[in-house]
This record gives sequence, C-alpha cells and structure tokens, in this order.
Amino acid sequence: MKITGYNIRKYTWHMDRALGDANSPGGSGTWQAGSILSIETDEGITGVSLGGNDYVGALFPVIEGQDPRGNIGLWKKMMDFVFKGGNEGEANAAISAIDIALWDLKAKIADQPLWKLLGASEPRTKAYASGIGLNLTDDEIFAFYSRMADRGIDGGKLKVGLDMEADLRRIGIMNECLQRVTSRPMLTIDSNEYWSPKQAIRHISEIEKHFDITWVEEPARRWDYDGLRLVSQNVKAAVATGENINDLGDFYALIANEAIDIVEVGSNATGITGARQVANMAYAFELPVALMNCPGEFMAPLGAALPNHLALEVVDPFREPCFTTDNYIEDGWIHMGDTPGLGLIVDEEKLAAIEVDEVVRPEGVSWPFPRREGAGLYQVPPTPEEVVWK
Ligand SMILES: [Mg+2]
Repeated sequence: MKITGYNIRKYTWHMDRALGDANSPGGSGTWQAGSILSIETDEGITGVSLGGNDYVGALFPVIEGQDPRGNIGLWKKMMDFVFKGGNEGEANAAISAIDIALWDLKAKIADQPLWKLLGASEPRTKAYASGIGLNLTDDEIFAFYSRMADRGIDGGKLKVGLDMEADLRRIGIMNECLQRVTSRPMLTIDSNEYWSPKQAIRHISEIEKHFDITWVEEPARRWDYDGLRLVSQNVKAAVATGENINDLGDFYALIANEAIDIVEVGSNATGITGARQVANMAYAFELPVALMNCPGEFMAPLGAALPNHLALEVVDPFREPCFTTDNYIEDGWIHMGDTPGLGLIVDEEKLAAIEVDEVVRPEGVSWPFPRREGAGLYQVPPTPEEVVWK
C-alpha cells in the first residue's frame, strides 16, 4: 500500500457562542475557521484528521509513495525534515495533522477502532467540563456546568485571572453545579499565562482559602520553568501546563526542572505519536496527563489508550459543523464506538455548504488571542462592554 495524495478542505462557520479567557475576556466572536486533511492511498482507503494547513504541501513529498502502516517511521522523517527551521507554528500543526490522519488510516487498514489499535482495554476515557468562558455571565456559567453535571461530569475548569471577587464567585457557581454529581468535585482554574509567578501565588493562595483546587493551568509563562516550579512549590494545587508547547523536548525541560505536575497534551504535540511519547515520559515520573479540548472529542481514542490519562477537556460550543465523531458522554466518561479509525465521519453535504477556497477573516475578528494589557504586571479586569459577545 502506498500514499498517493492528500487533500485539505477549509471551511468557516459560526459557533453558538464565543470563547473567552484572561487575555481575551470578550472572546473571539463566534466566527471560526477549520479544515479537514485527507491522506489518500492506492488502495482507496483514506485517513482523515482535523487541521491541516498549507505547510502540508511542503511535507507531503516526505511521505509520498511510502507505506502508511509505517507511520511512526514517517513521523520521524517529518520531524527530521523540519530539523533546522524547528518544529514550530505551521510546521508543527502540519506534522500533527498528518500524523493523526496516518493513525486513522492505519486503524482503518486494520479494520479496528483507533482506541483498540492503540491498545486501550476499554472504549472510554474520563471527561472534565471547561467553559472557556471568561465572557460568560454568572447565569451562563451556571447553565454550562449544570449541563455538564447532567452528563455525570464531576470535574470543571474555569477561566480566571483578572478579578479576584469575580473568580471566587464564579468558582463557587461551578462548584455548586458539579456538586450535583459528587460532594467534592475536581475544581481547576486556568489563567492562560496572564500572571507573573508571584502574582499567581498570591491569587491562587487566596482562592485556596475558599476552595480545594486540583490544578492551576498555565499560572506562569509556558517556558518559565523556574516560575512554574515556584508556583508549584508555594500553592497546594498542581501546576498543569503544556497546551502551547510542541514536543517531547519542550516537555522534558519542564519535567526535569520539576515545573509541571499535570502534563497537558493535545492534537498539536506532533500528533498522536508525539503525545504518546510525552505521556510515556510523564508516566516514568508518575505524572498524570490531561488531554486538551478538541472538536467532537476526536482525541478520545488516545486518552483511552494512555495509562496515565486523567481526563479530557470537554467544551460545548458548536464546533462540529460538517462531521460527526463516534462517541458520546455519559456518567462523566466519553464512550467510543467501533467505527474503524478515529471514528470521525465527514458529512460531505454539510462540508460542501460551508467550504471555502481560502479563509478570509471578517473584519473585527480577533485571532489569534493577543496577550492582554497588564499581563505579568498588574490585573486589568474586563469592562462590561468587553464581555458582551451576543
Ligand atoms: Mg488552557
């Protein structure tokens, strides 16, 4: 079997709500752009992944004509290809998407669901709720975590960092909702690198007078292992980080410097191959892994197969405009079916209706999230006007 071609289909749509954090408390608006990468073979079997960008064209000659079943070897060839320029940005996103599509392909060739091919003994992985909602009102926070509690989810993450009084009040709302599932929910907070390490310690210590916090996410800059270690050593909560770093080498620096307690990986850690490497390294240090949010929870098969996986972040704006995934959430777990591969099925009719040749961002859409004024220096609370997104 040989890889013969690839296809990237880009699309735009509107989510049913905006997402917001400490750096963009008003959110990015509801407009979104996405893409689906397909990798084709001479035997008619196609691997798919979400993501994929123009850099795939530069990488494709590396895998063209190769047997897709040698996917880890192909991952190595791609990593070697970007050696000098570095595995960053568009190159990292392209490697990640290709790697995931190759795993999908490999599982389809084996006629197995990916969770089984990866070695999971059960088709499920635990979920936690994440509103990504600094832009949400208290009532909307209540509605979101209530919906998640209805699905049996007993852990939640809240965006914080700009306003202590609001943070305490809103954590209380999340806690109240999740207590419908368990008396002591797993409460976590995320400040998206807005604080300096000392600001983080002061803010988190105050929160910990009122709540038992399981982890604090990105309490300092992603690369600041001294700062992250300082936070870890001075609050009760674990330090979780990793969503904005790329590969094994990046994570090794944090682990070796005792700057990370919960290892967060996602589809962008050079794909499933890279995420497994990071998770296995973490396992050697008795560190749990938590998978980042992903549309349709399409990385759930990976979570099921990691022996140290804690929970996968679940968000619920409308992010599946042209595909379905073979899973559902019940009793706090993501349960997967037996569809071969990732279980990601493209709806050709829906895709055709929203497909674009090139993505053109509408005026006023803020992307990527810029770093907010005052970051690392002083806190700038959101104004009422800023958080209006409807
Ligand atoms: Mg985060």
